[in-house]
Order: sequence, then structure tokens, then C-alpha cells
Amino acid sequence: MGLLHTLYNELIGFMGLRALIDMYQTGNYKVLLTLNGLLGAVSPVLPLLLVIEIIRAVTYRRFKIEDYRMPFIIFVINRTIGRFLSIAAVAFCIGVFEKYALFKTSFTWYWLIYGYIIWELGHFLYHYWGHTVRLFWCLHATHHIPQSMNLSVSYAHFFLEGAYADVIRTTVCILAGVNPPLLFFIMFIDGSWGGFIHVGENIIRDGRLGFLNKWILTPSHHRVHHAKNPLYMDTNFCNLLNIWDKVFGTFQYEDANVSIEYGVSRDVNTRNFFDIYFGEFYYLALDVWKAPGILNKIRYIFMPPGWSHTGAHKTAVVVKRAYLESLKQEQSAAPATTLYETEQR
Ligand SMILES: [Zn+2]
Ligand SMILES: [Zn+2]
Repeated sequence: MGLLHTLYNELIGFMGLRALIDMYQTGNYKVLLTLNGLLGAVSPVLPLLLVIEIIRAVTYRRFKIEDYRMPFIIFVINRTIGRFLSIAAVAFCIGVFEKYALFKTSFTWYWLIYGYIIWELGHFLYHYWGHTVRLFWCLHATHHIPQSMNLSVSYAHFFLEGAYADVIRTTVCILAGVNPPLLFFIMFIDGSWGGFIHVGENIIRDGRLGFLNKWILTPSHHRVHHAKNPLYMDTNFCNLLNIWDKVFGTFQYEDANVSIEYGVSRDVNTRNFFDIYFGEFYYLALDVWKAPGILNKIRYIFMPPGWSHTGAHKTAVVVKRAYLESLKQEQSAAPATTLYETEQR
């Protein structure tokens, strides 16, 4: 009975139904007119979409257990400790940095726009460093290992990643004067949209969302971010407003000629939890151990993934440059080939 009750509570919590059930039991529907009531009412939307996604995959015989198994196991492991650490990180940063805020903002629509732009900057920084600093890549890589896209991927994170992200995002926001209630509201929008952009091709085949693709970060852009194709590596770090990708030159549209290949560059045993969760730490430790001299050891920790003390770098920048170079050569060679072929005929 105790186990069933726990499972029931877990399911209600996961589906985001707690606030709606409370509302139904107390009959107090007026809470819907408050911000908290409204947020509680929309929280089942994403979990419901995940259920629909799985049902559709099963119906159309596209369901593959490996697409969902690992995110599910990771979700269960992160369930308590990861969330607790994130909340602690946010509370700590607010406590420490609020007194150093440049100025104070209030909960109004214009400060919401300002706060969101600042939040996106914090998100961009955490995410950019998550891809370009090897130690932080160890925290972030688990999220990039799934080899297909579906809503469960948004649950696949190393348990310390949330705390790492929140320390950077919260510190940037608090120092820039975003007040805590506004920050929590932004976090809710960010979390909901951040989950939705992982929607799989099973539900939304064309993730560009029409005209929105020009203005905000859509599932299509985030699919590009999860791709290991050289053209797509290390692009689209933002979450909802992709202004900072445009400012810092990391914005990339989905190219109709380059079909997305999900995953990371190294071979991962996707059936092995330890490879998915700790693989990057293992290879970093190995590189540090083998590196000659203390300076090289430190460089391995902080240089981008793929950096090598031998100079034979395979970083995203190097791989992409080589790809673009080969593309350029192919294009310049193409007319000559055509001419040659014409002469042969
Ligand atoms: Zn990423
Ligand atoms: Zn993602």
C-alpha cells in the first residue's frame, strides 16, 4: 500500500497535477486568477505532451525503448538530489549577490522583457562554457548523448548541471537587478519552453514553427544544437530569445541539405549508464593523467573538448573549419568537373 501511495504521488508530481487536484478538492477555482494558480494549471501540459509523444510513437510503430530508457533512469536518479542542489544554488546566489545589484526592478511587463534578456545572457554564458570548457562539458555532455530527439531528452542531465547553470544564470540576473519574484517567473517560462523545444519529430515534424523560426529559438534550432554534424556543432546556445546567439555569431538555421545526426562525436555505449553519465569525466581524467607537465594537465581541464597537447586538436572550431574548407573546395571544383565532363562527351 505504501509503495502504491509513493508511486501515485510520484506520478502526480511528474505530471504536474498537484495544483489542479488541490483546486478540485478545495473547490477554490479563484486561484486560477493568481499567477501561482495559473502556473500550476499549465504545468501538466509538457508531461501530457510527452505521454502523447510516446502513444504516437507506439501507434505508428516507431517506439524504440532505447530512446526513452536512459533519460528515464537519469530522471529517477536526479529526482531528489539534483533538484535540491539547484534550489540551494539559487537561494545562495540571491543571498550573496542581491546587495550588489546595480539597481532594483519590479514585477512589470517592461522589467519582464529586460529580465528575460538578462536571463538569456546568463543562459548563453552557462551553455557556451558548457560546450567550450572541458570540465563543464563533463557536466553537460549527458544531455547531448541521446541519439534521437523526444521530450524525455529534457530530463537527461548530470545531477550537478542544474546547480552549475543556476549559479551562473542567477548571479548574472541578481547583479543586473532582476528581483527574485521576477526571476522565478522567468525560470518557469524558461523551464517550460526549454522542455518544449525537445519535442520530437513524432509530434512536430517541422520544428520551425512557421514565422516564429525567424524571431525566437524553436525546436528546429534546438535540434540543430543537439546535432554532431560539423556545421551544427556549438551553435544555438540560447533558450527562447536567441538574441545572444545572433550577437556572438553562434546562430545557425537548420539546413535542408544537412540532415541532423543527433549525439556527440565520440563513440558512446548508449546501453551503459556509466559511459553516459561519467564517460566524459573518465576520458578527461585519462587525458590529465597522461599529459606531460602541470600546465598541460591544467589546459586539458579548461580548454575546449578535443584540445590536445600534441597540437592535433579536434575541437568543434577546428572540425567546422575543415568542413567549411572542404565544402568550399568542392564548390570551386564543381564547375571544372562539369566542364571536363562536357568536353568528354
Ligand atoms: Zn548544449
Ligand atoms: Zn537540449
